[in-house]
Amino acid sequence: MEPGDTAVIDRAGLDRLVDVLRARGYRVIGPRVRENAVVLDELASGAELPDGWGVETAPGYYRLRRREDRAVFAHSAGPGSWKQFLHPPRRRVLAVGLDLEPEPEPAEETPVRSAFLGVRGCDLAAIAILRRVLGGGTYPDTGFTERSGGLFVVAANCTEPGGVCFCASMGTGPGVTDGYDLALTEHTGAGHRFVVDVGTTEGAAVLAEIGSHRPTESEVAQARESVSVAAGRMGRSMPEVDIRGLVRDSRDFPHWEDVAARCLTCGNCTMVCPTCFCTTTEDVTDLTGDHAERWERWASCFELDFSYMHGGSVRRTGESRYRQWLSHKLGTWHDQFGSSGCVGCGRCIDWCPAGIDLTAELARLAEEASGAGS
Ligand code: SF4
Ligand code: SF4
Repeated sequence: MEPGDTAVIDRAGLDRLVDVLRARGYRVIGPRVRENAVVLDELASGAELPDGWGVETAPGYYRLRRREDRAVFAHSAGPGSWKQFLHPPRRRVLAVGLDLEPEPEPAEETPVRSAFLGVRGCDLAAIAILRRVLGGGTYPDTGFTERSGGLFVVAANCTEPGGVCFCASMGTGPGVTDGYDLALTEHTGAGHRFVVDVGTTEGAAVLAEIGSHRPTESEVAQARESVSVAAGRMGRSMPEVDIRGLVRDSRDFPHWEDVAARCLTCGNCTMVCPTCFCTTTEDVTDLTGDHAERWERWASCFELDFSYMHGGSVRRTGESRYRQWLSHKLGTWHDQFGSSGCVGCGRCIDWCPAGIDLTAELARLAEEASGAGS
């Protein structure tokens, strides 16, 4: 086997994949059911994968449902994303005593090599964005580069887009094109199997340990067809307009007030977004005053303090904060990082308590721009 080759494994082969990766020293992270959602978590074995679970999604709505088959990857994005493992929500960055000498990192905070199992095209694109934003440039975040270095990626071509997915219109899915060691396309029903595309030599070596067989032409054709059919079954799509120009030129449109009347400025959308990366730091001391720590935690541009500068917050209204989030994500992100900051995963739509849907908001702004919304 070598990069570019294709093979087939069955459901037992998927279990072996988890075992082989763990035996090679990887912390295997993949989907599993917990607290009425498909979450991403460390897997002790393939038996923990969400066999036969699907999801129903809509704005402000996410429900698990039992499927009639034993599909493992037939669920769209859940509340967690791979960001939480590469860029943790909260981490201690420094601890000092009275001598001001930094204390060593606790052992459990030392990064270990991770294997991500079941990464969709949208999330693979999000990881690539995080690599550029946090891992690139003159001053990369060394915590991020340590966590993302040596990452083994098992991608999952998506054959079951959800009600809030729109990766096809963002050009990030439903199929994966690169950035993986192995890519799986699941075929459910009779002959439950996974067509495996080999992306790297490390992927080929892992696959050799699992054992696989060569696919028939029809198995490969069926796998490719199911991904291309999925592209036409997205629950949503981004309007086909110049999005960058639209968010730049719509600054004073009345529609922002309409969104602000619904938005609770809770920040959920930024927390679940796989590309939102902002953090803040907090310093704490213990009661004796002889031990101090600095913690980094995710921050949200929906927090009032986020834009605090010399005596006040710049973005005091919900309207200005929502507009800032959307304008950065879809507009100025291009100027800063060379791509859109949105990969079309739909999480911010699912997990918005007000059911605000950025594709619908963009469509309304586009209507206003064309004069139809006035
Ligand atoms: S858009 Fe929704 S999720 Fe985001 S801050 Fe507003 S209410 Fe919260
Ligand atoms: S803005 Fe929403 S749809 Fe786009 S990547 Fe973030 S969470 Fe996903």
